[in-house]
Amino acid sequence: MLTLTAEVDLERENLALREELRRARAELRRVDQLKRDFISVAAHELRNPLAILLGYTRILENESTGSIRDRAETVALNALRLKNLIDVIVTLQQLDSGELALRFEPIQVASIVEDAVESRQREITDKSLQVESQVNEELFVRGDRERLGIILANILANAIKYSPRGEQISVHAASESSRVILGVRDCGPGIPPEEQPRIFDRFYQVGDPHARRQNGLGLGLAVSKALVELHGGRIWVESVPNQGSTFNVSLPRIAPNGQGTLGSLSGSVIF
Ligand code: ADP
Repeated sequence: MLTLTAEVDLERENLALREELRRARAELRRVDQLKRDFISVAAHELRNPLAILLGYTRILENESTGSIRDRAETVALNALRLKNLIDVIVTLQQLDSGELALRFEPIQVASIVEDAVESRQREITDKSLQVESQVNEELFVRGDRERLGIILANILANAIKYSPRGEQISVHAASESSRVILGVRDCGPGIPPEEQPRIFDRFYQVGDPHARRQNGLGLGLAVSKALVELHGGRIWVESVPNQGSTFNVSLPRIAPNGQGTLGSLSGSVIF
């Protein structure tokens, strides 16, 4: 049985603890807000000069030949890598803070595939890769163009990164009842079955974390998964070690006029 003084002391201690907790929460919110503000300002300040850099190097690429053109392409490629990295960090921040707003519109799947492949052309050529694309122009999804671009850029960048020189990457899309299944297949090292569920976790990279044979932050697939799910879709990998990997994205399909669903379609283009 507690005495009155002991009860009062306990109550006072409880009050002090609650106050401490309240202050800690407020401090956490303040630090979180600072972090958000910093990422948003830093991203804005980095994105603008980067866009100018990318624009001018594209002009330089088109207007030059020989070694000058090669150098302009290298600058453009590295600026694009930076842009993709900033996109991933900003998207992650927006996801965490609930600030990510998708701008849905009818999107032609072939057009996002074409844009993604075109922007990676330099790396594809450097590694003598061949990208074969089988995407029918009649396939449409309802999505956010910029965010679908980020998803595909991440998957394609990995396929390029992990493909041995001279190999083939195939991008295919087909309709399955009311969905579009978009797949990117590479002939890379593949991913062991026990690692496959973990590659969609933040910062996860397959293999020895100290070896870091390939660069990257281990964020691309985590962001892609979150974005696919916001589109009402699903992402998964099919892979056998030493036999390559196929990353699949399934998205709800719409008709080319922006409504309803259609039957099975396929088509073929070689990049
Ligand atoms: P990052 O590529 O920046 O490391 P990701 O989230 O895109 O991060 O990928 C996570 C990990 O999944 C990679 O580090 C790699 O180990 C593995 N991975 C992703 N794509 C492939 C692929 N096409 N082939 C083999 N491994 C892959």
